[in-house]
Amino acid sequence: MTAQPAGGPGSMPTYLGMPAFPDAARTAVADSQLRRNLTHATTAIRVKRARAVAELDDWEQLRQAAKAIKDHTLANLGTYLLRLEESVTKAGGRVHWARDAAEANAIVANLVREAGARRVVKVKSMATQETGLNEALESEGIEALETDLAELIVQLGRDRPSHILVPAIHRNRAEIRDIFAREMAGVDPGLTDEPAALAEAARRYLRRKFLTATVAVSGANFAVAETGTLCVVESEGNGRMCLTLPRTLITVMGIEKVIPAWADLGVFLQLLPRSSTGERMNPYTSMWTGVTPGDGPQAFHLVLLDNGRTATLADPAGRDALHCIRCSACLNVCPVYERTGGHAYGSVYPGPIGAVLSPQLTGIADNASLPFASTLCGACFDACPVRIDIPAMLVHLRARHVDEDIRERRLPSPEAVTMAAASWVMADPARYARAQATSRAGRLLRRRGRISSLPPPLSAWTTARDAPVPPRQTFRQWWRTQHGADPGGHRAIRGHPGPQWPAAPRGKDPA
Ligand code: SF4
Repeated sequence: MTAQPAGGPGSMPTYLGMPAFPDAARTAVADSQLRRNLTHATTAIRVKRARAVAELDDWEQLRQAAKAIKDHTLANLGTYLLRLEESVTKAGGRVHWARDAAEANAIVANLVREAGARRVVKVKSMATQETGLNEALESEGIEALETDLAELIVQLGRDRPSHILVPAIHRNRAEIRDIFAREMAGVDPGLTDEPAALAEAARRYLRRKFLTATVAVSGANFAVAETGTLCVVESEGNGRMCLTLPRTLITVMGIEKVIPAWADLGVFLQLLPRSSTGERMNPYTSMWTGVTPGDGPQAFHLVLLDNGRTATLADPAGRDALHCIRCSACLNVCPVYERTGGHAYGSVYPGPIGAVLSPQLTGIADNASLPFASTLCGACFDACPVRIDIPAMLVHLRARHVDEDIRERRLPSPEAVTMAAASWVMADPARYARAQATSRAGRLLRRRGRISSLPPPLSAWTTARDAPVPPRQTFRQWWRTQHGADPGGHRAIRGHPGPQWPAAPRGKDPA
């Protein structure tokens, strides 16, 4: 399955032959090895994160501060982007503006050609995955080599990332060893699947590439408008090799990554590592401002990418998705992600944030099933360090999808017909009572206390779940045996005090 380079406003690579989420998820959950790998990895990260977060008494205040900074920045995005451009230019860098993925890729390809290079080394970057940069460069005869270990595993395995932070989370050690043994030129034939041996093999392989590369491409976690400083956080140091050794550095960054000032960076550098890897701080936090003669890259280009972000900003109910700092905490706590993995989402951004961001960047129609890929349990909101209310956004996007669907259809959908019928039945007590009595016939379909298969068109419901067995008695019948009257009719019985509901526990929903 290959990523297709994108073109046009708000575009992202799509994956050839990728089925919609419900079909892809069905295949994924049937893969027990994949589920074991995912459960092992997400459980370990969750435990580490919880421990790191519990160390801070002011975690909630930090979350509130981060949200406030993001709200303010996005409300004044134009101002801060122009300030960033001015600061980067003053420090010796050049800023390029890209409306969409195709423009960003063309800018990068031109810059690489201008630098006289045929190969670039890359720091892990979601923005360049979003634009399909590797494939675009390849079509221009330029090789792009991923240097983040997990990205390297994905690239050598001709695979796709399945997690924002740990792109090869779906692979175990034995699978990684096989990929290295098959694809890495000059690798030790006796390579084991010990983590240290795998890391050493990758280090030797990459070191040669770092020392000969003249151009590097990176993303950015943050960009400080007041000074023009770019920031990348990572765990391995491979990113820092890319950021310091080559002569030319090209950074592709989504426009929402700008923050106003250095003081703001302090908030995010506390939240991000704890939320992503469960560490107090990232092992490597690299920052650079323009170019410094005789030190590091001597040419620096910043490509500011829109690609659907301005349109997302225009939707008051959806714009908070742009607050995301790509920590991936929401993926690690999501019960749906833990069972399906990232590939099933069919988009560059998987998990809960992908379910709200991808449809907004590229249009709901392209990702129609993603807002439904959630139980709405709310774990993503609780974990999010910038307080993005993902469940509320999912409900909003579902409504938008339904509205668009209704507008486009000539005939109402089966779901709309079912809802209209249910509404008609429930609007009248007599109709409702008759429907209840009829539904008891469903008891004939039960096998061993369950209904696992309903006849069409209701069979769609039971392909993924059991249907509840109707009780022997309806609620009305039960009430009648207890009170001698229909519910609601009790007041007609002389002297009857009305329904005697047990008192609800204080502070709890009586339901
Ligand atoms: S939505 Fe929140 S939790 Fe999820 S990746 Fe973004 S910042 Fe992290």
